[in-house]
Amino acid sequence: MSKFAEPMTRLIDELKKLPGVGAKSAQRLAFHILRASDDDAEALAASIRDVKASLRLCSVCNNITDVDPCAYCTSATRNQKLVCVVEEPTNIAAVEKTRHFNGVYHVLHGSLSPLHGVGPEQLRIGNLLSRVAKNDIEEVILATNPTVEGEATATYLAQQLKRHGLRVTRIAMGIPVGSDIEYTDEVTMLKAMEGRRDM
Ligand SMILES: [Zn+2]
Repeated sequence: MSKFAEPMTRLIDELKKLPGVGAKSAQRLAFHILRASDDDAEALAASIRDVKASLRLCSVCNNITDVDPCAYCTSATRNQKLVCVVEEPTNIAAVEKTRHFNGVYHVLHGSLSPLHGVGPEQLRIGNLLSRVAKNDIEEVILATNPTVEGEATATYLAQQLKRHGLRVTRIAMGIPVGSDIEYTDEVTMLKAMEGRRDM
């Protein structure tokens, strides 16, 4: 016999599927939901349903959106000739936080990883290349992660994009602001030296 009533076990099992939620956390969340008001519990269920029903990928940039094309792609105040390429939709928030980027985005939904069977066909690269071919885009900034996969993706994209005769740039990598050079590893230090600029 199960420890809990069947609906409770079912809720715990569903919550356990969420990233970072173990058996104990799932149980705690399930009991929290059980104790919550009917309105709060219903709002949670409805928001989960809505997110699945109303959100999709922007046909231009692959960002998650409820209107297609998304707000970035149709914005008259953003520079549509400057495209920042990121791995995941959540990376857009990181770039937006700087308040200094006025271009638009392209989301790849991953990075190249031959070991895990992720090749160019598994990423949303096709509509980046057709976007570049069709519109007079002036610069593509490659803001993939500074990991082996992110670097491989940037190198691959640079090769493909340069054929279209536009400026292709890579974000600088280096020493985090507020840290000490003494404690910087050699790869980061090398990247910082390579990315130096004139003053
Ligand atoms: Zn878009």
